[in-house]
Amino acid sequence: MSWSSPLPWTRRSAFVNYAVVVLSVVAALVAALLLEPPMHSSPFVSLSLCAIMFSAWFGGLGPGLLATALSVACFTYHFVPPVDSFKVAPVDLPRIVLLGVTGLFVVWLNVARRDAEGALRRSEANLAEAQRLSHTGTFGWKISGGDMVWSKETYRIFGVDESVKPTIDLVLQRVHPDDRERVLREMDRVALGEPANDYEHRLLMPDGTIKHLIVLAHRAKYESGEEEFVGALMDVTTTREAQEALHTAQAELARAARVTALGQMSASIAHEVNQPLAAISTAAAAGLRWLTRDVPEVAEACACVSHIAEQADRAGNVIRSVRDLARRADPEMVPLDINEVIEEAVALAKPEALRHWVTVQLQLAPGLPSVRGDRVQLQQVIINLAINGVQAMATVTGRTRMLTIRTEQRESGQVFVAVQDVGIGTEPEELDRLFSAFYTTKVDGMGMGLSICRSIIDAHGGRVWASRNIDSGMTFQFTIPAYR
Ligand code: ADP
Repeated sequence: MSWSSPLPWTRRSAFVNYAVVVLSVVAALVAALLLEPPMHSSPFVSLSLCAIMFSAWFGGLGPGLLATALSVACFTYHFVPPVDSFKVAPVDLPRIVLLGVTGLFVVWLNVARRDAEGALRRSEANLAEAQRLSHTGTFGWKISGGDMVWSKETYRIFGVDESVKPTIDLVLQRVHPDDRERVLREMDRVALGEPANDYEHRLLMPDGTIKHLIVLAHRAKYESGEEEFVGALMDVTTTREAQEALHTAQAELARAARVTALGQMSASIAHEVNQPLAAISTAAAAGLRWLTRDVPEVAEACACVSHIAEQADRAGNVIRSVRDLARRADPEMVPLDINEVIEEAVALAKPEALRHWVTVQLQLAPGLPSVRGDRVQLQQVIINLAINGVQAMATVTGRTRMLTIRTEQRESGQVFVAVQDVGIGTEPEELDRLFSAFYTTKVDGMGMGLSICRSIIDAHGGRVWASRNIDSGMTFQFTIPAYR
């Protein structure tokens, strides 16, 4: 059914409505005159009531009233003695009044019905419009008989013509093959009368495009005893695509920030790679000397070679960590030992700390539960917090520059990490702003580090915050839920 206009009759011209009144009353009159001789009585009253009903149904109140007036006039003139005159004997007056009152009653009934129909159509039109705007379709599926009905928006979402009868096979044809099993499972759940549960699945459209739907359905029992699956489905494709684009942009931004952090640490990293290279070169020279002696010292040469292998591993590890940080953009959520992640991150940040005469102290709680996260992103958080701490202590004199990284298990089932420095700290009123994008107090700062840390920790279902230490410096801490 199409609700292109909420009140179709309001657009019809008044002339047509009133012409229909005249035609129907005249038709009733002619029919009554023709039928009167064979019937031996006049059927005008019944026929004129039909004309009034039709006029009121077709044109509404005004035409209904006109039809009543015309019918009363025709009745008085043609059928109430003396005929062909408007004169009325008092004894005939009740018949005329009765026709008039019955006519008015019929008009009132029709107008009331039309108003109710109009309200219903308007509410259905509003509902259809709301469904279109919110991309939400509805469906009903009779349990006995399996008849299915879809709203207009459901047809649009499934990309099916409204003349097609919806069936469960049609639904399953459209469901993405990878999601079909889940959809069937959800249908079974609802069929068993289990509580409603919203779930998401994809549609694979005939042109190869993918749509994302959120579906909510339950089993409804009506007073008649009939049972039906009733549900709503929302097309969230645009939202999902925007979320995907946002995730990609965030991942790219995080990668850019990692590369920036690597840039800041480049001198220390170069030093960290150079050291094993120098050791390799020295060991190689020594090894050569042992081997080129008159009596080659094979055991000493072997020791040199294994030293070379160790140092090559050390350099390789640094390069691998740098490459991981610089390369990957897509997060990969896996169970992780947070202590291990911290140790790997510190291996990269430590040389930078040492360059600024900062001692790094690890107080890692043993036996922590795993967390579910992306290794590179969590390393990035630790590196950001550690480098910020080191930079905050770069100008500090008169106390030991100490960066402490601590882990704990919290009773709430969270794993807690704190990065504490004894640096310059910050004003209390600045605490809230530290995590805002582009907030920086550094000459060459971007102000993105902490904001990216927050979005990474948020994406891991955790929380990050900063506090001022009682004596000096700051502690940045975060929690992430333990992996179950
Ligand atoms: P950036 O390092 O580029 O400035 P961040 O988002 O990492 O960007 O940090 C934002 C600001 O937060 C810094 O400029 C600094 O003012 C403050 N901040 C961050 N870490 C610390 C810290 N450990 N001690 C004091 N201030 C800090």
